[in-house]
Amino acid sequence: MKQSVIVIGSGITGVSCAEELRRSGAKVTLIDRVAAGDPSQTSYGNAGILAREGIMPIANPSMLKMIPQILLSPNSPIYLKWSYLTKFSPWAVKFIMNGTRPKALPIILALNELLYDTVENHIQLSKNTDAARFIQKGDMTFLYRNRKQFTTDTFANQARRDLGISWDELSRDKLLDRDPHISKLYQFGLAYKNHGWITNPAAYVSNLAKHFQKNGGKILIGEVSKINGNNVELKDSTILKAESIVLATGAWSKSLAMQLGHNIPLQAERGYHLSLKNASQMPPNTYLITDKKFALTPMDGFLRCAGQSEFAPLEMPPNPKAIKNLRKFLFRLYPKLEYETETIWQGTRPTLPDSLPMIGRSSKNTSVIFAFGSQHLGLTMGPKIGKMVRDIIFERQSNINMKPYSSDRFD
Ligand SMILES: Cc1cc2nc3c(=O)[nH]c(=O)nc-3n(C[C@H](O)[C@H](O)[C@H](O)COP(=O)(O)OP(=O)(O)OC[C@H]3O[C@@H](n4cnc5c(N)ncnc54)[C@H](O)[C@@H]3O)c2cc1C
Repeated sequence: MKQSVIVIGSGITGVSCAEELRRSGAKVTLIDRVAAGDPSQTSYGNAGILAREGIMPIANPSMLKMIPQILLSPNSPIYLKWSYLTKFSPWAVKFIMNGTRPKALPIILALNELLYDTVENHIQLSKNTDAARFIQKGDMTFLYRNRKQFTTDTFANQARRDLGISWDELSRDKLLDRDPHISKLYQFGLAYKNHGWITNPAAYVSNLAKHFQKNGGKILIGEVSKINGNNVELKDSTILKAESIVLATGAWSKSLAMQLGHNIPLQAERGYHLSLKNASQMPPNTYLITDKKFALTPMDGFLRCAGQSEFAPLEMPPNPKAIKNLRKFLFRLYPKLEYETETIWQGTRPTLPDSLPMIGRSSKNTSVIFAFGSQHLGLTMGPKIGKMVRDIIFERQSNINMKPYSSDRFD
């Protein structure tokens, strides 16, 4: 008899879980209120970076030092509406407490576990599917105003060195050899090796879902209103039943988890993108522009500029200033940039105060497995989370320490 599983959420996390479970022989139904690759998913519009280097928790010793500067700057890449401050404060306190050195070190190790083999995991997940053509291997370059900006971040540099993340230093001349259009503002770079990116994140997720369906997986469009024991109840009153239920609903996971009795401090963290069709200047690989904390990715026919971190409730309308800032920052890098058309987008990252996702059985309903909270790195870690969820459901032995990701770590 096949193990039956319902996966709720068809973003990169849910699709990865569903496909890994299907390949292992489970009878899987993937439910979402929208189709995989829909613009309302966070997986639709991200920067596409497979960020093997992304081991630093969002709150970390270097970031804590910069908080006053970040909050007072009118063009800060981090934004908080003052009217939201009172509601946001309890989360912010938990977040800041996780940024101290003793707290950050174990988080770094737990993040590394989810990131170190990302490119390989994506290759395995997309093998023999139409999604494979969107994977590109290559460096990831951090751009700095000068070398000092890089050397002063001693905590992050040491952590990356300790974990064997290697890089080449790029002088201004070396940067220009790779990309002659970079403005004078950026005089120094680091090229992280063994990275990669997805050249169209929406099409990637959509093709993975199609492959899943073509090979026996079931896809249902519907909104889940409740999980009750082994039952999943939809808004239209349909009730579905399975032995295991995977909750992979990204930034929307809090209310469903709450019905199970969990009070999880999941915060919606907005981000934006600007995608420019047929841009005259394309970087040779992905960039992180470190002073303004935005990413630039050469995609399939367009240049994507993505970033901004806005702590806001899910229902708050987009902030027009965020896109204005992205455009301004981009033109400071490529002053002569031209392009045909532009599209803008906003998405919501699911972020927990310790920057780690929640992966594991719910302690209140052991038929439910949590798989959400992958903050800025959900595309990078999606396939790994898929494998971990598969191993939990099939009770396979794993040498990963699951404690840092547990569902009751904030209780
Ligand atoms: C601007 C920006 C840039 C980013 N860049 C990168 C990057 O370069 N690299 C990287 O690794 N990550 C990046 N990220 C983060 C990454 O996009 C997210 O972590 C990831 O997409 C989360 O995937 P998910 O599947 O968990 O959630 P989602 O993709 O949001 O999917 C959740 C799904 O759950 C469904 N759902 C919710 N509630 C219900 C319900 N009740 N019933 C049915 N369905 C429901 C939703 O419809 C949705 O389809 C970026 C994010 C942003 C915003």
